[in-house]
Amino acid sequence: MLVTAQPGAAEVSCDRCGATFRAAGADRETIWPAAQAQGWQTERLGGVWWHRCPDCAGPARLTPP
Ligand SMILES: [Zn+2]
Repeated sequence: MLVTAQPGAAEVSCDRCGATFRAAGADRETIWPAAQAQGWQTERLGGVWWHRCPDCAGPARLTPP
């Protein structure tokens, strides 16, 4: 899930475990590239994009949350 808490402070949360990623000064345009650089991934299931933290983007990723 992509969350924009306030202007200039965005965060991403894992749709499986709820872990969050934040980057100082990031907005909704820049938070995801920053997260991907740390191993975060997306997968498309049931027509919806799901966000996965590095811990959850492994072999179990074919199972919907
Ligand atoms: Zn996770």
